[in-house]
Amino acid sequence: MCAAPGAACGSGPSVGRFAPSPSGRMHAGNIYTALVCWLSQRSAGGSVVLRIEDLDERTRSGPWVDLLLDDLRWLGLTWDIGPLCQRDRLDRYAAALERLDRMGLVYPCFCTRAELHSVSAPHGPSDMPIYPGTCRFMSKADIARASAIRSPARRLKVPDAGDPAGRIDIRDRVYGSRTEVLARDCGDFVVQRSDGVIAYQLAVCVDDAEMGVTEVVRGRDLLGSVAPQRYLQNLLGFKRVSYAHVPLLVAPGGRRLSKRDRDLNMGELRARFASPERLLGWLAHLTGLAPDATPVSAERLAETFSWSLVRAHRRDIEVSAADLG
Ligand code: GLU
Repeated sequence: MCAAPGAACGSGPSVGRFAPSPSGRMHAGNIYTALVCWLSQRSAGGSVVLRIEDLDERTRSGPWVDLLLDDLRWLGLTWDIGPLCQRDRLDRYAAALERLDRMGLVYPCFCTRAELHSVSAPHGPSDMPIYPGTCRFMSKADIARASAIRSPARRLKVPDAGDPAGRIDIRDRVYGSRTEVLARDCGDFVVQRSDGVIAYQLAVCVDDAEMGVTEVVRGRDLLGSVAPQRYLQNLLGFKRVSYAHVPLLVAPGGRRLSKRDRDLNMGELRARFASPERLLGWLAHLTGLAPDATPVSAERLAETFSWSLVRAHRRDIEVSAADLG
């Protein structure tokens, strides 16, 4: 089902990507992200990469990838390259990790999740406390002793607070500009988990660079990942990509829609709306991409798409099954 890992990558001026994790059936929020990614490229003559983010074992069983492809095709959200699967690219991530290691920037970390959460520090990009650097200065002997008991995660050192290399200027197409300081806002972050799986931040950077991606569109819950990803791009000499985060669709009261909770998932939406045009009309109206809910194709929406429409509706959008009519 996955295209060959070395498959040719986008040659057009602009390349976007939709990068779902197949942990359940897509919900309305995932579809909104896919739609904006697709509209941005289609309206600018660019191409779209479909990347399946299946590094985690738990995402590899179940019917989710097949359903995801079927749902995207049904909606008319076609892709030009892919599906490329992360599990086919492990050697690429290992090579990048090796390069970082040779720069002397990677160190083993033996802290458990519970230990990390017991440290009262502000929270970083993945909702984990900002790492206080506990394992940064372990001696070789201590590392050997600790390794005999537990296999470590591996973390990347970020520059000290005063070092200009650790100041990351971020310009987001929807949420605007700001500067983050890695030591303050992110901390040393995990590049390989203790079970050996490459961490999201590193895999995504390698993939975006090697797949020729120029524009990342994703949910605003990942805004905090821009700084670590920019830092990795700088270290690895990758081209910068532009970022556009889009608001989340949330249940009444603000709870994020979840694939695992089967919130407004594509099974339910397809049954309710019966045609892709009716579903897209509803979604486009809900998110401000269209003035009303008239049935509309993705192609037709591309004719009127503009980023200012997304910017004008950048608060999270509440939605419930009752709104489906
Ligand atoms: N795989 C992530 C998700 O499904 C998206 C990661 C990204 O777009 O950088 O939420």
